[in-house]
Amino acid sequence: MTRTIGVDVGGTSIRAGVVDEHGTVLDTARGSTPADEAALEDAICSVVGELLERHPVSAVGLAVAGFIGTDRRTVLFAPHLAWRSAPVADRISARLGLPVVLEHDANAAGVAEHRFGALRGAGVGLLLALGTGIGAALMVDGVLYRGAHGVAPELGHLPLVPGGRPCECGKAGCWERYCSGTALASTAVDLLAAPGARSSVLAREAAGDPGRITGRQVAAAAREGDAVALAAVGEMAEWLAVGLALVADVYDPDLVVLGGGVGESAPLFLDDARDRYHRLVTGGGHRPLLRLRAAHLGDDAGLVGAAALAAEV
Ligand SMILES: [Zn+2]
Repeated sequence: MTRTIGVDVGGTSIRAGVVDEHGTVLDTARGSTPADEAALEDAICSVVGELLERHPVSAVGLAVAGFIGTDRRTVLFAPHLAWRSAPVADRISARLGLPVVLEHDANAAGVAEHRFGALRGAGVGLLLALGTGIGAALMVDGVLYRGAHGVAPELGHLPLVPGGRPCECGKAGCWERYCSGTALASTAVDLLAAPGARSSVLAREAAGDPGRITGRQVAAAAREGDAVALAAVGEMAEWLAVGLALVADVYDPDLVVLGGGVGESAPLFLDDARDRYHRLVTGGGHRPLLRLRAAHLGDDAGLVGAAALAAEV
């Protein structure tokens, strides 16, 4: 019986879970994410320590929203966390007295979906986590594809729209500005501002301040049949298809799984995106087409994957 702890270190919260060899989460603990480096490591050790009081485990895996070195011991850069070229695995390992591995959070989620979820059986499988941006993980024959320097695939920042919406990465028109939870809200706000926009549900949610609308609210309004929300979801389906056609030219995946906050609403747009993709992909009608489906593991995917990787050390 192998039990390990997986920790999802996000920009606002730290979530840890004790996970068994079947990917089942047996117990959880959580805390908030402090802004400075030492406090962040204290918080991780405290959340993990809480679980260690109740469960013996063999190792700890950290899923981090940032670039991880190829040795999986160093956080190179994390836009929403304090670490910069920091030897995080060694520091946390010394404090806990356990082996520690690091992985990019989307990669960890990809591993979890491949072992225990919707990517099972994929030869070339891609996870797209649609949330604040796009987190992507590529599994080739069951192994993570990380690129030469450990930072691939960064698909969210493929520039699809010349001169398009500005992106935090410094470029403009990136895929995730059109296809993510944030993008869904931006598109809805744009559509609400158009003359003659018909929206009862979203207008009520916005309450005079369209900046408050979230992607989840747009998805919920679309489920209620709100015209503007449905149009925003339709636009996202189109951009998902445009990006997937590009991805198919590069990686030719057989299975793509949609996770993240927007992934929960995948039934709203999956069929539409698939139809649009079939029309856009190079050689459509004369080649096998990738399968597109919703992720299975929800918010737990990152910590379950980190725990699975920890079980290998
Ligand atoms: Zn970008």
